[in-house]
Amino acid sequence: MAAFSFIMFLLMALNKQAQTSNQKIVVIGAGLAGLTAAYRLRQKDHDIEVYEARPRVGGRVHTVLVRNLDNGYSNAELGAQNLTDGGESKHILSLIKELELELVDEHTPFQGMFYHQGIYYERTKIVEQIREKNPNFSTLLDNEINTPGSMETVINKLNLDEAQKAFITFVMNAYEGLSVSLLSTNIHNLKTLRYVLSGGLSQAHANLTEKPLLHRMSIKAGNARLPEELARRLGNRLHLNKILKKVNYHNSKEIELTFSDSQTVKCNKLILAIPCSVYNNIQFDKRLIDTNILKQIRYLHYGAIGKILVPVKSHSEEKNQWLSSAQMGVFFNDDHQLFNVYCIHEKEPDLLNPDFYQNTLSILKNCFNHTQFLEDIPHHAEDLNFVKYDTPVAKSWRSDPYVQGAYSAFDITVQELIDKRECHHGVEVKALFAPIHDKLFFAGEHATILDEIGTMEAAVESGERIATLVDAILN
Ligand SMILES: Cc1cc2nc3c(=O)[nH]c(=O)nc-3n(C[C@H](O)[C@H](O)[C@H](O)COP(=O)(O)OP(=O)(O)OC[C@H]3O[C@@H](n4cnc5c(N)ncnc54)[C@H](O)[C@@H]3O)c2cc1C
Repeated sequence: MAAFSFIMFLLMALNKQAQTSNQKIVVIGAGLAGLTAAYRLRQKDHDIEVYEARPRVGGRVHTVLVRNLDNGYSNAELGAQNLTDGGESKHILSLIKELELELVDEHTPFQGMFYHQGIYYERTKIVEQIREKNPNFSTLLDNEINTPGSMETVINKLNLDEAQKAFITFVMNAYEGLSVSLLSTNIHNLKTLRYVLSGGLSQAHANLTEKPLLHRMSIKAGNARLPEELARRLGNRLHLNKILKKVNYHNSKEIELTFSDSQTVKCNKLILAIPCSVYNNIQFDKRLIDTNILKQIRYLHYGAIGKILVPVKSHSEEKNQWLSSAQMGVFFNDDHQLFNVYCIHEKEPDLLNPDFYQNTLSILKNCFNHTQFLEDIPHHAEDLNFVKYDTPVAKSWRSDPYVQGAYSAFDITVQELIDKRECHHGVEVKALFAPIHDKLFFAGEHATILDEIGTMEAAVESGERIATLVDAILN
């Protein structure tokens, strides 16, 4: 009897293995979400291929090298910079450890200036003044949870002068990535506003209100080392320069994909790890995805962020200072040799326009008056990692065809749907990004179940979870 059970067990195991190896999984998008999902599934011996539109991996993680004023090269990020924006960031930190990459971990004083219509305000003072005028802001925010309207409606209920309103609006917009008129009044966005009014930055940086030190963490020699290492481990399973154009129902078991070079590929499971902002460029078969769901995904908003990296030689007193205005945020990179200038406009300006650049520099020079700047006009960044530049370098994420924006947020368009969760095969998913017929799956920072949407941690978390889900289905 024991021998019979053992043989049955062996046959079942062999059958399961055959099933797993017969199932072809395709991941579209080699950003952190897609690469993490693919790497985890490959570790479990699944048949997986990854297709990426760009000539590089990493998506919104993009490291470059810029010549500094000491004639060396400083690495800097055109996309995601700070790992701790994902809060505890346990998924990405354990992946970084597993891949044996080193971290740069620092606590920098959080002292900032806010520029508005010719005047520079100290951040701590502006926040203190807002609190004095709004002693009951906490109760006001408690009463606003999930009320109709946007975060703009909530901000309008506070007693603020023009500069104070511009400051709050900027911080919410910069941190959550969307204009306040598009941010829902869900608990997460209200919490961010609560932290800003308390003197902090967000839930992920909640302790700033006790110690004015900003916890910054990045990967030594550049964040792009993480996607590059995942890509190395995937080897020839990864295909660059492949732009997905069409997703067709082929038969009850297979999906057919068509790329811009007319190549077609069939698969049994498809993981879409691309931003929602690019779904408009892909034709989907109605038999695979319901028109209404597709419409909701396509409606999600992505804010506009452009980044300019400017070589500087800073004075020690100014080394930890940051500056923001209603249109930009300015921080040092890890080695304090470059300024990261984040340009945040409803409609992103032309970062390469000389007038725009000179105007930005003059605002910076008035605040950092002991700092020396390289004044050359910026060059536009190539879509490759670790390229060396000898001038300032600029990147517009709004005009990048494979993101068309910066990152997603708790968006008013899908207020309830984006907060709703479901369970599939024991794995939690957002209702809006629930798997379809156990064949089509969604990954990406937007699909995270964490509060810290729009971060590297969110992308890795979603990739890990989708890999667990697909593996559970195939086993
Ligand atoms: C300026 C900026 C600053 C940021 N700062 C931070 C920060 O400090 N901390 C933080 O944690 N996060 C930050 N983020 C957010 C973070 O970068 C993202 O949340 C995260 O990298 C998203 O990963 P993803 O895999 O979901 O998407 P992506 O990185 O966008 O990956 C998606 C991939 O899909 C590919 N793709 C798109 N369309 C197609 C197609 N049709 N066919 C094939 N492939 C396609 C894209 O090329 C891309 O490689 C920042 C983002 C930006 C833009």
